[in-house]
Amino acid sequence: MSASKPQFIQALKHSFSSEDYRVEPSQCWAYGYDNSRLHALPDAVVFARDHQQIQQLLKLCRDFQIPVISRGTGTGTTGATVPVHGGVILSFEHMNRIIRVDPDNRLLIAQPGVTNDAIQQAAAEHGFFWPPDPTSSAICTLGGNLAYNSAGPRAVKYGTTRDNTLGLTLITGKGETLHTGVKTTKGVVGYDLTRLIIGSEGTLGIITEAILKLTPLPETRRTLQIIYNSMQGAAEAVAAIMAQPIIPCALEFIDKQAIDMIRDYASILLPVNAGAMLMVELDGRHNSVDDGLSAIINTARNNACLEIKQAASQDEINALWETRKALSPALRKIAPKKINEDVVVPVSHIPQLITGLEQLSKKYSIPIVNFGHAGNGNIHVNLLTDPDNKSMQDTVLECLDEVFTLVLKLDGTLSGEHGIGLVKKYYVGKELDKVSLDYMQAIKQVFDPDNILNPGKCFPG
Ligand SMILES: Cc1cc2nc3c(=O)[nH]c(=O)nc-3n(C[C@H](O)[C@H](O)[C@H](O)COP(=O)(O)OP(=O)(O)OC[C@H]3O[C@@H](n4cnc5c(N)ncnc54)[C@H](O)[C@@H]3O)c2cc1C
Repeated sequence: MSASKPQFIQALKHSFSSEDYRVEPSQCWAYGYDNSRLHALPDAVVFARDHQQIQQLLKLCRDFQIPVISRGTGTGTTGATVPVHGGVILSFEHMNRIIRVDPDNRLLIAQPGVTNDAIQQAAAEHGFFWPPDPTSSAICTLGGNLAYNSAGPRAVKYGTTRDNTLGLTLITGKGETLHTGVKTTKGVVGYDLTRLIIGSEGTLGIITEAILKLTPLPETRRTLQIIYNSMQGAAEAVAAIMAQPIIPCALEFIDKQAIDMIRDYASILLPVNAGAMLMVELDGRHNSVDDGLSAIINTARNNACLEIKQAASQDEINALWETRKALSPALRKIAPKKINEDVVVPVSHIPQLITGLEQLSKKYSIPIVNFGHAGNGNIHVNLLTDPDNKSMQDTVLECLDEVFTLVLKLDGTLSGEHGIGLVKKYYVGKELDKVSLDYMQAIKQVFDPDNILNPGKCFPG
């Protein structure tokens, strides 16, 4: 602990109610993890109560040069909440109110600690939903969704968190209150600071309120399971589906290795020669969705297509989605320390990506399992290996580096939804050039001149 930390703890105790903080290591320990499984012990945990209390905390942290790391529920996979430089974890578990639902203007205003599912429930009572749908929706928070620009299967039709947020209230590293955005669906006054803050992983400001854009719930949906004899066949079908005018509300891809795993834990019957599977979902009005379905089926049927099945009931739809959503945890059982990337390429380049990944898997003798949100070109690339195994370490890093090189060569990007945090920050320079990095550092400097907001994340330096 640096010389100022004991004095900071004293000042914290002096200024805050004892219910609002913890400083005992045993009570702070659990707040040092996220789903990256990295850990560092924070010096204190403060439970956010309201905007003014957070401002008071920021002033204190600035005076003592103590880092502040905002935390939702720590489901993030890249270590963005891990307090590598110590400091205060600011937990939003008590700031979890839905402030207002305004169906006439299709918006909902909420505090950052509310879960994604709670937002969906509140919106559904008025016939709406909020499109971002990470698989972790039951536990992850709005603050985390905003800071990571999280998304899920629905992004292919409805966009990500960035596309579905109208405005924010936040506190910058200088302790200033900043209101961004509008309460309307159009607005072009000034720079778009809302989109800048979303995805900035808590490094530019602490979000205390958000205005979310709601979408009417569709009347109905249809779900297809399409099996191909090869990954190439499925990848080509994805590109073809995305090139025609009907946009599915989900277009998920599962490769052969993942199909073989599904056979082990799910009751779904799959042909023995299945080489890849697509899940395609369409939503809309009763009278139009079946026309759309025929168009998708015609486009998806190519020479590699083995079978197309439509889920006949809500139970069958649920079973398909549960199978898809159980893939990541199932892989964790096989390889607890697997490396899970979430790269993105333009959809027409998915076939080259899949071929390249097969070649890298053979070259490095590392099993690679791929599945994900193919409609966005966002593929979860799972390297089933143990990065802590010393004899494998160099090989794994070399393979990962080649995966990223391949993605960038295909005009892709290193992360679609999981963010950078700690685990990917050394690769950022592969994608962003020096000019971009310099501009980003200058922006950070304006928002947080003392570098107290989530330091050590997102950028290599
Ligand atoms: C089983 C499982 C499935 C998942 N599926 C998906 C998926 O389908 N799609 C997807 O995108 N992600 C997925 N994730 C990753 C994760 O759930 C999301 O990134 C989620 O949005 C993180 O929310 P959180 O509340 O856990 O945030 P945390 O992990 O606690 O924090 C994430 C980031 O948000 C910042 N932050 C939190 N609150 C604030 C605030 N108020 N102000 C400023 N910054 C803040 C933190 O500093 C950190 O940078 C999954 C994770 C798990 C464990």
